[in-house]
This record gives sequence, C-alpha cells and structure tokens, in this order.
Amino acid sequence: MTVNKATTPPSARSTPQVAIIGSGIAGVSAASTLALGHPESASAITLYEIGRGPGGRAATRKTRAIPALGINHGAPYADISTQQGQARLQTLGAATRPYRGKRVIIDGQSGQARARASSADETLITGPDGEMANIAGAMLKDVHGALLPGITTAYSSMVRGITRDGGGDGQWVLSDKDSQEIGRADWLVVAGSGIAHPRWSATFGGEPPLVLAAAMLNDPMLDAALATIAQQSAAPVLTVLMYATDEVAAQWRELGFHDGLIENHPVLAKVSIQPGGESQCAVVLHSTIDYARENAGVYGSSSSAARIGDASSDSTREEILIDEMLSALASIPAMPRIEKSRYAFGPLLHRWGNAFPEGPALPADLAVCSHARVAFCGDYVRTAARMGSYECAWLSGIRAGEQIGQS
Ligand SMILES: Cc1cc2nc3c(=O)[nH]c(=O)nc-3n(C[C@H](O)[C@H](O)[C@H](O)COP(=O)(O)OP(=O)(O)OC[C@H]3O[C@@H](n4cnc5c(N)ncnc54)[C@H](O)[C@@H]3O)c2cc1C
Repeated sequence: MTVNKATTPPSARSTPQVAIIGSGIAGVSAASTLALGHPESASAITLYEIGRGPGGRAATRKTRAIPALGINHGAPYADISTQQGQARLQTLGAATRPYRGKRVIIDGQSGQARARASSADETLITGPDGEMANIAGAMLKDVHGALLPGITTAYSSMVRGITRDGGGDGQWVLSDKDSQEIGRADWLVVAGSGIAHPRWSATFGGEPPLVLAAAMLNDPMLDAALATIAQQSAAPVLTVLMYATDEVAAQWRELGFHDGLIENHPVLAKVSIQPGGESQCAVVLHSTIDYARENAGVYGSSSSAARIGDASSDSTREEILIDEMLSALASIPAMPRIEKSRYAFGPLLHRWGNAFPEGPALPADLAVCSHARVAFCGDYVRTAARMGSYECAWLSGIRAGEQIGQS
C-alpha cells in the first residue's frame, strides 16, 4: 500500500480521527471539508483507497509506458445542475475547468448524429488539465501542491474488515485481506457503498464488513441505514479503452464530436473521444447496462477489484467482449473501423460493477449516524442532485465532512 502523510505530526493532531473508505469525489470532498473547516483541530483523516490514487468512478487511467496518456474511463466530465452545486463550484477554484467537448446524440442504427444541448442551469466541468481524477487530486492539496494538513492517503489499500475495539465506546479498527490491522479511527466514513452492500458477498465472499460490525452494535439508526442500502442495486457498465497517435488518432479527431450518446443500440451507450496534444487521441466505449449485466463476472484483469481485492474475473472472456464491443461500433455507420494492432494502448476492458446505483437513495437523515460514529457519502445518498451523479457524490461528501466537523 502507498501511504502519503501530510506534514502535521501525529502529536499535533486532536480528535476525532476519521477513516474515510474510498477516495472518489465523495470521500475526497469529505476529507477536504473536514481539513479546511477545522484547521485548528487538524483532525487526523486517513483516506483508504483500493486504486492507485483518487478519483474512483471519475478516475483517469495512466500508464508509465506512455507518459502523455490519460484516459477518463469512468465519468468523462461532470454536469453540475443544482443551485447548491453551482454555488459551491466557486470554492473549487483551479481544481476544475469547463468541459468544452462537443456533445451529440447518435442513432445506433443509422449513425446519424444530432447536437445534444446543455440546459441553461447546467455547468459541465473536467479536471484542470482535462483529467477527471485531478479534480479530486487538486481538492486534497493546498496552493503549494502539498496535501492539506491532517490528511493521510493510503492508496492501493483495500479495507476488508471492520470491527469496533472494546464494543460501543471503542475505536473502529480496520484490517486488510490478511486480517492485519491497517488503521484505527473514531469516525468511519463510508464513501462508496461496497463495504455496506450485499454485492460484497458475490464479489469477495462473506458478509459485507460493515454489516458484520453493525450486528455487534445494535444501533437502530445504523441498522436502518444499512437496510436502505441493501435495497439499492448496482447498474454495471463495461468500458473499452484505447489510445492512438497520428493517423489513427486523426480518424477519431476528425469525427467532429467528443461525447456521443448512442441511442437504439443493444451493446453501446456512449463513445467518448478525448483528444490530447496535437496528434493523440484516447477513446472510451461505454456499454449499455443490459450488455454489462448479460456479461457479469468479467472485470478486466487490470481493474483494482481484481488486482487488489482478488475479485474473481473470467479473463478468457475479456477479448471476446472487447471484440463484441468493437464489432458493435463497426455496425454503426460513419464510425471508424478499429485495427487493434494500430493502437498504442488497448483496447482494454474495464468493468464498473456499480457504475450507477439504483433504488431508494439513502435519506439525508440516515447519512450521519452520530451515535455509531458512521457517516455515509457517495452518489447513493440523497442530496439535491440526481442519485448516481458526480454532483450527488460531491455534495454528500461536503455534508458528511461538515456534520462530522460539528459533532
Ligand atoms: C462509465 C461511467 C460514466 C459516468 N458518467 C457520468 C456522467 O456523465 N455524469 C455524472 O455526473 N456521473 C457520471 N458517472 C457517475 C459518477 O462517476 C459517479 O456518480 C461518481 O464518480 C461517484 O463518486 P463516489 O465518490 O460516490 O464513488 P466512487 O467514485 O465509486 O468512489 C468510491 C471509492 O471507494 C473505493 N473503495 C470501495 N471499497 C473500498 C474498500 N473496501 N477499501 C478501499 N477503497 C474502497 C473505490 O475504489 C472507489 O475509488 C459515470 C460513472 C461511470 C462508471
């Protein structure tokens, strides 16, 4: 696991210690809200994250082999639509810039494209350099690029077990897959519903860690929160990532759009075209939810769930699914034909097992269980913004940070 500590010495920190499980936008905004809102107490905040850095479903895929490559393989941009979100945008300063990609809607049968209008009260944003992960990355840092005081990051680190030391009054104790303790905290922030949701059992086996821990606490509010989360389901999406240069990149750059929502197609829902530099281009194909559901159990061998969490993945089917998604693209008139060998990176498959949560959002009044010292944030929690959106996750993280800070 990669641990990166801010400069505040442990002796200078005062309570509460806060463990945030998940460094997507929700976990990061909870951490930065706490760190910025309570500099005097400089809470000891640790962000645990399975992936190699912050971002979660709004992450940017990188590779050391091609330093210029950065592929937004989850959310290609974020749409901020609520008044609350619009007002908060100003506080993000240089962490974002407007997304200026041209958006179209493509008919999956005829290939005809029409413009996709933005509504007047919607602002589209991306990272300062076009990389979505860098919104979250920038939020964790001060103007000099140092981690905000009080924050420690633990990347490539999956929380597999949660217990409460000494029962009700004790600290939360977090452990890894070898049952080794990896941290302790007074507050637990569940910034990604995985450790609390029944889907944990299918992916990793056993009961979800927070459900096991809650059984020992008998806290009615926490139990009610977990019961609501259990009613939610996860809509998956498969993505195929590619990166090309020169004339192969030019084929994509010349299409004249960047975000193509595909209608009337059984396999593909979106094509995201992400030009970089003068002659490079990343492309991400998004499957329909139905297609991803029909092809469960294939994660993509490089996904964090498979790499760190040992989620079982049928790697023999990866190439088959890639080929099916590429053929599906080829079936849409006017789309480029893909010769795999001409791509500098990919095509590579990535499964988002929980791309979009569905079902009842966790009500705001169950999101912070003060007695149990558990806070929930993420796009599965009710806010003014649409459930399953970046904005929803962001606003819920701010609220969790504020409420823990006031407790
Ligand atoms: C393909 C795709 C396209 C999308 N398009 C859009 C869009 O156009 N507009 C929009 O608004 N939204 C879009 N979204 C949704 C948006 O990305 C999410 O709503 C948002 O990023 C969720 O943020 P989050 O912080 O709640 O969760 P996440 O980003 O999922 O963060 C949770 C984090 O927790 C980590 N984690 C989970 N369990 C553990 C554990 N046990 N230990 C350690 N770490 C753990 C995960 O690795 C993850 O990084 C899209 C999503 C996908 C997948």
